[in-house]
Amino acid sequence: MTSRISTHICNGVQHVFSGDGKVGDMAAGMGLTETMMQRAEMMQEAAETTFSRLTFEEKLDRLAEVAVKVGLGLRGGQEMLMSAPIDALPLVRRITEHAYKAGARLVTTFYGDDPSIVARYQFAKDESFDYAPVWLQDAIATAFRSGAARLAIAGANPALLAGQDPAKVSRANVAMSKASKPAMELITRHEINWTIVACATPEWAKLVFPGLPVDDAVEKLWEAIFKASRIDGDDPVAQWKEHGARLKQRVDVLNAKRFHSLRFRSADGTTDLTVGLADEHLWAGGGTTAGNGVYCQPNIPTEECFTTPHKDRVDGVVRATKPLSHQGTLIENIAVRFEGGKIVEAHATAGEDVLNRLISTDDGARRLGEVALVPHSSPIAQSGILFWNTLFDENAASHIALGQAYSTCLKGGEKMPEEELAALGANSSLIHVDWMIGSGAMDVDGVRADGTSEPLMRAGEWV
Ligand code: ZN
Ligand code: ZN
Repeated sequence: MTSRISTHICNGVQHVFSGDGKVGDMAAGMGLTETMMQRAEMMQEAAETTFSRLTFEEKLDRLAEVAVKVGLGLRGGQEMLMSAPIDALPLVRRITEHAYKAGARLVTTFYGDDPSIVARYQFAKDESFDYAPVWLQDAIATAFRSGAARLAIAGANPALLAGQDPAKVSRANVAMSKASKPAMELITRHEINWTIVACATPEWAKLVFPGLPVDDAVEKLWEAIFKASRIDGDDPVAQWKEHGARLKQRVDVLNAKRFHSLRFRSADGTTDLTVGLADEHLWAGGGTTAGNGVYCQPNIPTEECFTTPHKDRVDGVVRATKPLSHQGTLIENIAVRFEGGKIVEAHATAGEDVLNRLISTDDGARRLGEVALVPHSSPIAQSGILFWNTLFDENAASHIALGQAYSTCLKGGEKMPEEELAALGANSSLIHVDWMIGSGAMDVDGVRADGTSEPLMRAGEWV
C-alpha cells in the first residue's frame, strides 16, 4: 500500500508484459468455471461498450464518485482535506461536488505546482533543504484529529527532480518526513479514512507513452487510469464492493494459515528470499475500517493482499522486477541481500547512490515494513503499462516495502505503543517505499513455524 505521494524520475522506457488477460485470466486465477468466465467476459464487454460511449466529463465524474463513496466512504458532516497537482483542477472540482453531495462540512484543497517545486532547487539557498513547514503539517494533523478525512490526488511528474542534486532531494525529503510524522502516523495507523486516486497530467503521460503526441498520451493515460481504477463497468460503486469482497476472501484464507514466513523464488534464481512475518501479523486488503469507524479503500486502484513482515527475520537475495521511481529519481534493477532482516548489500544499475541514501535514512530504512502479494493476472499487470507511479505499479506485482510498517496489520496494533509493535517485529522508519519483486516467473510458498510449507503462488498466480 502506498500512503505518500511522491515525485519520480524515469528514462522514458515503456515496459510491455506478455498476456492478454483481463477478466478471463482473473477468473481463472480465482478458480471459476469456463462458462462463468465466458459470462463474465460478455458482461465486461457490454459494460465496456457502455463505458466507451460516455463523455470524458462523465468518466471523470465516475472517478470522482468512486473516490468519495468508495475510496473515502466520506461520512456526512465530515471535513475533507485534499491535496492535488494544479493540473488536476477538473477532477478536484468533480470530487468537491461529490463530497458536498455526500454531506461534507468543508472541503479544503492544497495544490502543488511542479515548476514551483523545481524553482526551489534552482534558486533557494542551501539552508532551505533542511526546512519543512512544521506549522502546516501540525495544522493538518490537528484537522485529522478533529475528524477530517484525507484525499490525495497523484499525478505529479515522476521525473520532476531528475536533474537535481540527489543530496538536496534527500535532505528535503527527510525534513518533510520529520515535519509530517504526526499527520502521517494518523494515516499509517488508519486512525482516519483516507484515499489516493490518480489524475493524468501532461508530464506524467509523456513518460508513460513517450512515442505519442502529448494530447494523445494524456488521453491514453486517462483511459488506463479509468480502467485500472475499475470504473469502466456499468455500476462502479457496486463493482468495487464485489472486488473488495473478493480481496477480503483471500485475506481471510491467508489469516487462517498463520504462516511463519513467506519464501519467494524466481525462475532465474535471482530472487530467493525468505520474509519472516511479524508475530500476530494480520493480512489486509480490499478496504479498511479506520479508527474513526469509517470503511475506506486507501488506494484506488488496489489489487494487493499485504501484511507486516518481521523486521529481524528477512534473509536472502531479491531482485526488483520493475524500476522504482522514488521522489523524482529513478532506481533501476535493484538487487539486494538481506541478513537478519537488514539489507547488507544493495546494488542498482541506475540510481545506486539514491538507493544507498534512501536506505541510510534511519535504521528502519534498510528493513521491511510491508510484504504484499499480487497475482500476475492483475488488470494492471495485464495492461502491460509501466506507470512510473507506485499507486499503479505496486498493484501490478507482488512487492515489499522498505521502512514503516502498517500497525493495522497486527492484532490490536492500532492502539499499541511503538515499543510493543517493535517487540512483535513491526518496523519503524521515516520512509515507506514499495518496490516490485513479483512477475509471471515468481513462486511463493507459505512456510509454517515447524518448517513445513505449502505453495501459495506458482508462476505468479494463486495456487
Ligand atoms: Zn503494498
Ligand atoms: Zn506500501
